Amino acid sequence: MRAHTSLGDFDLTVCSDGTYLLDGGAMFGVVPKTLWSKRIQPDAENRILLGLNTVIVRTGKHTIAIETGIGNKLTPKMRGIFQNQELLPQSLAAAGIRPEEVDIVINTHLHFDHCGWNTTLHPDGSVTPTFPNARYFAHRGEVEHGHLQLERDAVSYNSPNYDPLIASGQMTLLDDDDFFATSNGRVAICPGVSVELFPGHTAQMMGVHLEPPRPAESRPSGSTPTPHGCYIGDLLPTAHHLDITWVMGYDLDPLRCIEERKRFYSHAIPEQWLVLFTHDHDTPMARVALNEKGKPVVAG
Ligand SMILES: [Zn+2]
Repeated sequence: MRAHTSLGDFDLTVCSDGTYLLDGGAMFGVVPKTLWSKRIQPDAENRILLGLNTVIVRTGKHTIAIETGIGNKLTPKMRGIFQNQELLPQSLAAAGIRPEEVDIVINTHLHFDHCGWNTTLHPDGSVTPTFPNARYFAHRGEVEHGHLQLERDAVSYNSPNYDPLIASGQMTLLDDDDFFATSNGRVAICPGVSVELFPGHTAQMMGVHLEPPRPAESRPSGSTPTPHGCYIGDLLPTAHHLDITWVMGYDLDPLRCIEERKRFYSHAIPEQWLVLFTHDHDTPMARVALNEKGKPVVAG
């Protein structure tokens, strides 16, 4: 367990699949190393240490897992490259969370480091759902993009993380039309939990909004903000990526990422959202504020 907090009536626990190593340059796109290395130190091979945060949300009615780490399906060669540890099952157990009690799983997108423990690979080669009683949610466009196996990002998609769940009917695939059909662009998953498109990293990446419902009489008055959390996926992978232009080399559409960050901040900063970071091992959650230069930073 990495962190624990409450958001209104929701209980949030950050669990972790461990850490992994990615090239620092790829993580910071066109940002010069002389700048990003002041914030996070690379190792001798220019790699930086990243986290794999799964947020468990207990709403009182539902137990939700947002993102499921890298999982146990990487080849030995890939494990050697990423140095990942496959720790999510132990992390959940340490936090007292049984896989059977998770009834909703949400994947912001289907890159291998976000949905790896959707399913578990067994020694006999079979694959079964890690969360047997859960309904899984992902975007249909992610599945279709992954199946294309394009030169640019084929390596990022590993279909055993989702194809068996689609075949069994356990995964619900959301369509763009589901989002366009709503007044605020958010598709409700359960009371107080919804997803919204934040394209750029991939064409259909989703953020997850957490808005614990409150009875009208206890609604705070005046300037007290209603609690609002958002797991923002790879739009802001770590707290080191808060600068609007510090987008990743991995992003398929970096210009769109910049626009989506502005749109996100236009609510997240004034409304003091709790922002949950998928790949920050040290700062899994923070509120964001503008510093004296007008740049977004972790609120002090
Ligand atoms: Zn990704």
